[in-house]
Amino acid sequence: MKLIIASNNKGKIREIKEMLGAHFDDVLSLREAGIDLDVVEDGKTFIENARKKAHETLRLLPDCAVLADDSGLEVEALGGAPGVYSARFAGEGHDDKANNEKLLCALSDVPDEKRTANFACAMVLSRTGMPDIEAIGRVYGTILREPHGENGFGYDPLFYYPDFGCTFAEATAEQKNTVSHRRNALDGICEKLSNREM
Ligand code: IMP
Repeated sequence: MKLIIASNNKGKIREIKEMLGAHFDDVLSLREAGIDLDVVEDGKTFIENARKKAHETLRLLPDCAVLADDSGLEVEALGGAPGVYSARFAGEGHDDKANNEKLLCALSDVPDEKRTANFACAMVLSRTGMPDIEAIGRVYGTILREPHGENGFGYDPLFYYPDFGCTFAEATAEQKNTVSHRRNALDGICEKLSNREM
């Protein structure tokens, strides 16, 4: 059976191919599968959005397995915000820099010890006629008062990861991929999958 990853992000696809490749005949991105689909992410939770992406893709490719994910940043002092609004925290059409500036502004009065946060990633693997396999991965850190580092994307320059002693934007992609929320979610999917027949 082919696995379709409901994304065109090359980094995500490489990581998923490495981990799940052995379970499937082939692993393809949406583009490689010839699908042009833009799912509206209007769920209240990461898992709702991931399910929606997985199910809409499966409707177009019912003979394949589909893996979809949704991720974002949850800041404790902001009650879990920006959460599912992470990509558009500063408003529709704004970039990572504007999102980071808005986050710094929202946390300006929050003392260092209360600046705890985590990235979260929900993943859903769907196949026709079978129950979904779902997993959520998280990675914990704190939000700095200014950006550090040039690697990664999104909130990485503000996300300090204590075990590395630096932000995710100062770590290499390889380092980040060993501990990331996506890696943890993928580990969860893999574990559940390895107990089942494809
Ligand atoms: P998506 O799951 O790719 O749609 O990610 C949604 C948003 O969450 C991104 O636009 C980023 O702002 C944020 N985000 C998700 N994962 C990461 C990460 O690994 N580093 C930094 N920001 C992230």
